[in-house]
Amino acid sequence: MTELRTANASAPEALADGSGGADSRQWAVKNVGGGLMIAASALVVLITVLYDVRGEPFPALTRHVNFGLSACVAALGIYLLRTRRRLPGWLANSMPSTAAILICLPTSMDESPDELGPLLLTWPVTFSAAVLTARVAWVTAGIAALVFAALASLNRGVDGVVLWIEASASLVVVCWMVVRVQGQALRLREALARLARTDALTGLTNRRGFDEALAREHARRGRGGPPWAVLLVDIDHFKLVNDSWGHQAGDETLRRLGALLYSSFRATDLVGRIGGEEFAVLLADCGPEDAAAQAHGLCETVRTHARDWEHPITVSVGAATDPGPVGNGSSPTELMAEADTALYAAKAAGRDQAVARV
Ligand code: GH3
Ligand code: MG
Ligand code: MG
Repeated sequence: MTELRTANASAPEALADGSGGADSRQWAVKNVGGGLMIAASALVVLITVLYDVRGEPFPALTRHVNFGLSACVAALGIYLLRTRRRLPGWLANSMPSTAAILICLPTSMDESPDELGPLLLTWPVTFSAAVLTARVAWVTAGIAALVFAALASLNRGVDGVVLWIEASASLVVVCWMVVRVQGQALRLREALARLARTDALTGLTNRRGFDEALAREHARRGRGGPPWAVLLVDIDHFKLVNDSWGHQAGDETLRRLGALLYSSFRATDLVGRIGGEEFAVLLADCGPEDAAAQAHGLCETVRTHARDWEHPITVSVGAATDPGPVGNGSSPTELMAEADTALYAAKAAGRDQAVARV
């Protein structure tokens, strides 16, 4: 069952998904990955041609490998830039390692390669750390170091080992730094997502978080999920609390009511503060009779508990339930409007009571 209880429980994931986390990763894999492939191919061709111009051409085999691989990698890069298909995770995750192996071939095979060639290995590693995950980045760095060690020592002996030490040390440092910065960015995004969905006074979910939860529950209902209901809770004559005892007393009352509401519902329900002295409860997996009973019970609970508070209060509650049938129920906006009408009926009927529209 979906865990709805607090803003904190679901907000980071909601932001990650809601702000297009998966989509933006796809975008980056295709565009950054495709762009890097084309740039790397162009570089390898340029370096090979420059060696020709300098009058010290690479051996024929190396030239062919360079040109052949560059053409294939550039074609793959262009495909990535142009395709609209979603790339499967395994393909995206294996791209950097494949690129690293391809880079190792020309930069380690020749006996007198450009010593800066291994610098290109930082591309797939930083790409993995920035766009994919830390695990993929470390695996890519490990594969790059192993393949480069084998090829360089085989082809260049001690010189190759020295080059390998320099290259792998740089890869480890670069990988560690980018992974660290990405980790910090992720934690900041999560904190921001939590703050954006949390009411500062009560710590409950705010209007934004509540609306998102409503939309999720509505979508779940559309996929054959259980019925759900909304309770709107408004403090009666709250202005009097402020006017008689001051705003601080009003704030304290809001905090106490928030805590009382939070502890009065199941872990699968979501309690939010959606306006000044208005709270709302999303009752997951809840039919009409249950919703009406919970609305009446809530008035009773607040009345009983708040009797002992320094500034006693009562609340009025409006309840509305998604009538279904499945996939054809009320939209979240319609349901909130119905709950609002019910709340006003409760106010008009004298307050300290619940009205349910089911
Ligand atoms: P009713 O029974 O009809 O709901 O009357 P009411 O006085 O509760 O409603 P009204 O809309 O007239 O007043 C709401 C008051 O809530 C006015 C506003 O100052 C107060 N309020 C809104 N947000 C806050 C807040 O964050 N802290 C405090 N202390 N008061 C707030
Ligand atoms: Mg009020
Ligand atoms: Mg109000």
